[in-house]
Amino acid sequence: MQFKDIVGQQDVANRLTEIIDSGRVSHAQLILGRTAEGSMQLALAYLQYLCCEHRVHHAEGGLRADSCGTCPQCKKIGSLMHPDLHFVFPNPPNGSPSVSSDDYMAQYLDFLKEYKGLGTLEEFNASLAGEVKTSIIRESDAANIVRTLGLKSYEGGWKMLVVWLPERMNASAANELLKTLEEPSEHTLILLVSEDAEHLLPTIRSRVQTVRLPVSDERPGMEMADQFGPMMVGWLRQLFKLKMKELAEQVETLAKMDRPQLKLFLRYTLGVMRECFLHSAAGKEVVIGSGDAKFDAMFPGMVTANNIETINDALSDALFAVDRNANAKIALMELSFRMSKALKKR
Ligand SMILES: [Zn+2]
Repeated sequence: MQFKDIVGQQDVANRLTEIIDSGRVSHAQLILGRTAEGSMQLALAYLQYLCCEHRVHHAEGGLRADSCGTCPQCKKIGSLMHPDLHFVFPNPPNGSPSVSSDDYMAQYLDFLKEYKGLGTLEEFNASLAGEVKTSIIRESDAANIVRTLGLKSYEGGWKMLVVWLPERMNASAANELLKTLEEPSEHTLILLVSEDAEHLLPTIRSRVQTVRLPVSDERPGMEMADQFGPMMVGWLRQLFKLKMKELAEQVETLAKMDRPQLKLFLRYTLGVMRECFLHSAAGKEVVIGSGDAKFDAMFPGMVTANNIETINDALSDALFAVDRNANAKIALMELSFRMSKALKKR
């Protein structure tokens, strides 16, 4: 994962690369923010930047730096195959008293890849076989942490541990982690990726360096469907017809939104496209809500592995342009052409 692939978190990305460039890497870092808004993506990009052999620095403006994405370290972290990269996450009971994250590691790594780091705990639980009600991080996970971090690093570099949703630790796991934070072993980095710091022990919070994602006014999700759904569907229909006059009118209407609204609209659309892709790839249920049953049934199948990346890039670029005060009409027109082309390549 490179920072350039993360949507709408440039300020946090820049803060993270500054921390590394200035040599102030804390042995315990807390990234606080919703997973669906990029907290886990930022954690992965942070570790990749930390290990990258050829970090890239950009001129003023925009993203200040990023990992190269091609060196062996980048490849290993990017594919989640780095031998010194470890994960702990909430896991459901499986009947064994010693159940831990390790029992679900293969599923978790697949889940991270499939959702590109944006998947929520509900989505992870849904991806596991059987009905999952309670997932926690428990003593056996803490014991694994202590053991893993006590070993020598395989590659001679950083030993990295990502704890996803540490607020889900039970008391004994939290106390064990606290001991590890108090006596860090050398060249060890513990990254806590949390959505709810209120439920972390204050003693843990006080021992970590915290980077917080901006709190978005509204969560781009189904609750925004009423507001943006009809507009999005009207626009999507034009992308298939591609009649210039009608498309221009549609773009004109969209461009009348103020910038914060337009950004929310684009993020909402991005969310829907992602759901459509998961529908095509994994049969996930998706609600388009156009009021036209035929369109609702047809559209999700238009977003597939062949075009999701192009669609994602086009929407991310538009979001970036709008964020940078570019001419909204031009950004939306450009987006329309790219989307229209991509949707034909399903
Ligand atoms: Zn690299």
